[in-house]
Amino acid sequence: MPNRRFADGEVVMGRWPGSVLYYEVQVASYDDVSHLYTVKYKDGTELVLKESDIRSQSSFKHRKSQSSSSSPSRRSTSRSRSRSPGRPAKGRRRSSSQSREHKDDKKKAIQEANLAPLKPSENNTRRYNGEPDSTEGNDTSCVILEQKLKPDLEIERVLEQYSLRPRKEEKKKEEIYSEKKIFETIKTIEKTSSKTKELEFGGRIGTFTMIFFLPATVLYLLLMCKQDDPSLMNFPSLPPLESLWEARVFGVFLLWFFLQALFYLLPIGKVVEGLPLSNGRKLQYRINGFYAFVLTAAAIGTLLYFQFELYYLYDHLLQFAVSAAAFSLGLSIYLYIRSLKVPEEELAPGGNSGYFVYDFFTGHELNPRIGSFDLKYFCELRPGLIGWVVLNLAMLLAEMKIHNQSMPSLSMILVNIFQLLYVVDALWNEEAILTTMDITHDGFGFMLAFGDLVWVPFMYSLQALYLVGHPTAISWPVAAAITILNCIGYYIFRSANSQKNNFRRNPADPKLAYLKFIPTATGKGLLVTGWWGFVRHPNYLGDIIMALAWSLPCGFNHILPYFYVIYFICLLVHREARDEHHCKQKYGLAWERYCQRVPYRIFPYIY
Ligand code: NDP
Repeated sequence: MPNRRFADGEVVMGRWPGSVLYYEVQVASYDDVSHLYTVKYKDGTELVLKESDIRSQSSFKHRKSQSSSSSPSRRSTSRSRSRSPGRPAKGRRRSSSQSREHKDDKKKAIQEANLAPLKPSENNTRRYNGEPDSTEGNDTSCVILEQKLKPDLEIERVLEQYSLRPRKEEKKKEEIYSEKKIFETIKTIEKTSSKTKELEFGGRIGTFTMIFFLPATVLYLLLMCKQDDPSLMNFPSLPPLESLWEARVFGVFLLWFFLQALFYLLPIGKVVEGLPLSNGRKLQYRINGFYAFVLTAAAIGTLLYFQFELYYLYDHLLQFAVSAAAFSLGLSIYLYIRSLKVPEEELAPGGNSGYFVYDFFTGHELNPRIGSFDLKYFCELRPGLIGWVVLNLAMLLAEMKIHNQSMPSLSMILVNIFQLLYVVDALWNEEAILTTMDITHDGFGFMLAFGDLVWVPFMYSLQALYLVGHPTAISWPVAAAITILNCIGYYIFRSANSQKNNFRRNPADPKLAYLKFIPTATGKGLLVTGWWGFVRHPNYLGDIIMALAWSLPCGFNHILPYFYVIYFICLLVHREARDEHHCKQKYGLAWERYCQRVPYRIFPYIY
């Protein structure tokens, strides 16, 4: 007996996940291990389907003649006008007692209106592009959809909501078919976990190199920063290896980590649901990062009150970095081992290549949890991010101590305040992280463990560290100009992120009624006005402007304090390319249409 029913390249009917609708798809590949098929929809969307969700085209044609059949396939194919599998059955009799069913049918019809691939014909040679044809608010462009749905006026109303007209006009019409309802009805489609075929970060060699390169970079930059002359050509001499390790420092690091874990476990703060996983399940997350920050501030304040010298952190910075690196390595090994036992569907879509080094680096398991303790979510914002501002504070105090100052320098104050604002903002808006790539796509492995626990606290505090050894005086007007720059960056960053997060959480939010969006086959819209119509990643633009403002207080004597902004531009340009790739896969031609409407990625008129 063959172990697969459908061959590569075969055109079959694939069930749209979470619905009873079948669409024409082409088999792209088959995974012998998971017994899953990767299929391609006409709009370019790729999904992974079980064999039971796939049927041959002939079985549909056969059923078409069986009028008594109530299978979804019959509904999909009962119209002779088109063989489009997603079309609603016409002339179907309904009794009054079937009104509920009728309502459900209408909802399905709405899905179909948005999802049905339009078959090219003499009259309609356009290819289905993953969105209704009415996206430009042009009434005549609704013709195809309206023809299909007439005389169902309620459905027409819903279709109007999908047009790009400002939604204020439609507010009153939302009672029955609010957008929220529709978005809930149309399930979010995420690719089911299967083998990762496209390797990122330079593949196996790239990720293997980075496992060594990243810690070496941290060590190199910290040593550079401590030199009197931190110019790039002045390579620092390596300290004796034994001086890099101190058990007491490691103990302090562990104390810090577990204190943050304790704060995370406190039953304060609301519990929210994350975005749906590939199996439709939603994980719960406690939002109490800001409380953890307040408790940490109280703990640090108490230590300072009892004359504890935060200078200890500055003095043992290298050992702390090594301790954090050792811990993140141990954590990554643990994460990889436990990931070998989890079901396929819980693996990260991007970290399941089957290559040990690659999966170890990018993260094999998507959401590793011990009970309800989410390791990735915890590490993303707590020990590293809060640790970053604690290190900044330690640098500020070290500067005062070393240079016998009664006040920190203006440069140091600016760097501390700007970065504190950034961290507090992240914790205050903690919920927003649930829609980011780190949570929804990337697994938890060495990349994020090292990034969260080592790279963020020790590399992002580089400007403050630099200022301790290299005092830089700036005038008040310069400080004011840098502050304005930071505020502009922050405003763009925050409003862009909030706009998208609010839209993703509740597309029907009346406060967002002025925004226009392109609907996509997955049910999610792509904003084309507001910040997301300005450039494709306005939040990155704001973030980069802020990064520049954090480096400027360090003057122009050395490039070292500009490491952050240079690295950050590279990171975000690469991240943007990754995100584009994922969005192209998710949204197909609708994404291309968005790119046409919004041609610049991050920097308007430049890139
Ligand atoms: P984003 O918050 O930019 O989210 C990208 C996602 O947004 C896409 O995958 C897509 O997801 C959705 N999206 C894209 N275009 C649109 C649109 N037009 N309308 C609606 N939704 C759209 O991703 P990141 O996780 O990279 O960044 C989050 C924040 O974190 C940013 O501000 C970034 O600057 C910051 N950041 C900071 C870092 C640091 O080290 N300081 C590192 C990395 C990020 P979908 O459609 O599935 O919802």
